[in-house]
Amino acid sequence: MNCSLCERVNLTAEGKYPFLIHEFPHSYLMLGEHQFFRGYCVLVSKSHHKEMTDMPSKVQAEMFQEMMKVSAVLQKHFQPAKMNMCSLGNVVPHVHWHFFPRYSNDPQFKDPPWLRMNEFEKAKVTQEEVRELIEILRPYF
Ligand SMILES: [Zn+2]
Repeated sequence: MNCSLCERVNLTAEGKYPFLIHEFPHSYLMLGEHQFFRGYCVLVSKSHHKEMTDMPSKVQAEMFQEMMKVSAVLQKHFQPAKMNMCSLGNVVPHVHWHFFPRYSNDPQFKDPPWLRMNEFEKAKVTQEEVRELIEILRPYF
């Protein structure tokens, strides 16, 4: 199977993906490769499922708790005006959740974060930012 998130999960398990923040029982929390919205992270299921409803119900419930922990930590640290969480998977159909902290100074605060996706590339993180943000976030878990 050719799935870019399975590949990323495997790299992470081998310690070769430098964006890992935290390993949960069912998922990996990864720093977003861009920080257009500061604090952007992605939570990726360790196992390949197209839909969350394809997971055993116990795993669904436990992964939901993992999502809640991520949201709570990002709120605590970044103090956003609102957390945006989205799971789409139209591009990569492997369960993952995007966590976008949204701030009150965002001129398009009421719009979905994806409307700015053409600008994400401009906010690609540097290795220094990766180290800094991971160091800040890890102790919360
Ligand atoms: Zn996959």
